Amino acid sequence: MSLSETLDPKDWKKTRALAHRMIDDMFDYLKEIRSKPVWRKVPENIKNYFKSPLPVDGESLEAIYLEFREKILPYPMGNIHPRFWGWALGTGTITGALAEFLASTMNSNIGGGCHGAVLVEQQVINWIKEMIGFQSSASGLLTSGCSAANLIGLLVARNKKTKFNVRKKGVQKISSKLVVYASKEIHSSIQKAIEIMGLGSDQLHLLPVNHNFQIELDLLQNAIIKDRKKGYQPFCIVGGAGTINTGSFDNLEALSELCKKENLWFHIDGAFGAWATLVPGMKKKIFGMLEADSIALDLHKWMYLPYEIGCILIRDETAHRLTFNLMPEYLYHDKKDNGLIGGALPWFSDYGFQLSRRFRALKAWISIKENGIKKYSRLIQQNIDQAKYLAVLIESHPKLELSAPVFLNIVCFRYLLQGYSPKSLDELNKKIIIELQEKGIAVLSGTKISNKFVMRAAIFNHRSTQKDYDLLITKIVKIGNNFAKKLES
Ligand SMILES: *Cc1c(COP(=O)(O)O)cnc(C)c1O
Repeated sequence: MSLSETLDPKDWKKTRALAHRMIDDMFDYLKEIRSKPVWRKVPENIKNYFKSPLPVDGESLEAIYLEFREKILPYPMGNIHPRFWGWALGTGTITGALAEFLASTMNSNIGGGCHGAVLVEQQVINWIKEMIGFQSSASGLLTSGCSAANLIGLLVARNKKTKFNVRKKGVQKISSKLVVYASKEIHSSIQKAIEIMGLGSDQLHLLPVNHNFQIELDLLQNAIIKDRKKGYQPFCIVGGAGTINTGSFDNLEALSELCKKENLWFHIDGAFGAWATLVPGMKKKIFGMLEADSIALDLHKWMYLPYEIGCILIRDETAHRLTFNLMPEYLYHDKKDNGLIGGALPWFSDYGFQLSRRFRALKAWISIKENGIKKYSRLIQQNIDQAKYLAVLIESHPKLELSAPVFLNIVCFRYLLQGYSPKSLDELNKKIIIELQEKGIAVLSGTKISNKFVMRAAIFNHRSTQKDYDLLITKIVKIGNNFAKKLES
């Protein structure tokens, strides 16, 4: 019987050599990513490969690494490539990847305590507040992403605005229906949050938008009055700072005033749009954002960090803590234990639903130090300029049409043919996206604008250059023309 088996390498020297090889390979892989297709279909034999049985005995790490290189690495999602603009995906960085290795090696748990990783997360949260100009006394938490951040923000809002102890009595005790407002353009994670909170998605009242894709303020005001008359209990408005379809900004200043007047919580989904504060020319759009009670944002989109990292900021630290704090005996630590692991610092587990939490702060800390804020500001500006450039290419082409104004870094557009039914144009645009992807040229996603299917490029890519946009347009027109010819024959 061995009482000292371990998972550490048997042969440290050999494993170290392999680790060096992995790093070298990954550097080559990323450096040469441009020469590879954006995306490749996973062949059937590879899909079947992942139905292999549960390993009983182990094998060498080297053999497994070769398997990774052959069976996994050639089939990335594609968002590391310069011509990936689908959904709202970030590109990641090699620094971020290295930081993940450093963080996982330390394997600190940031549920709480007093140790290096906690200090780093505290500093990163403070930096984020400073970067977007949010109140410095606000509390915050790094999250897996903006979905988790939105959920936390709305939970605090619900608990603060409910007149009884909802943590103890539960939502069943709520006699009048709690209502949340947002525009139809708001992200689906808000609906998910409302559902998870047990409020029911019927209580998320989505309002129409104006021609600038902003929530209709008059309709919103009327809805609040009407709902109150019906006996509902409105408690929160969610504003969009960078909405998912078009990158539009709600009139945040007006929403903030309305919230104050109606005594509602003002939450902002600023997943990517909040970062536009780093660009001087964008400040006006973001007026009112700093008045929010809570802001949810992502760092794995427009801060270009590898997945996952998001953040929630809450103006009222007490309301935040009172929504989540719970300290059972087995987590006992004395606030006076300065210098011990339990420590004198607040525990992050008192600010969210997770107890154990990974050291995701390190990749942000290292990257922000390495690049400085000025560089992020330039890169975000560059993506905005690239979106404008793409829009010019589209508008100056007779077969293409812009489907929505370009508010930020998202471009929605269509390939057009005279005399075709709306349905066949929808099909044609869908086919173009598929062909671009299947040929490995570029990845766009699609959405609906004014009930028409459109192609959509969302630019969170620090690797794209002007030529990539030129190529995209050339290829789209070529593919579109080919399909059109087939339709005619
Ligand atoms: C991506 C996104 C979300 C969801 O964030 P995740 O990080 O994917 O959980 C929410 N709102 C907007 C506007 C987004 O773009």
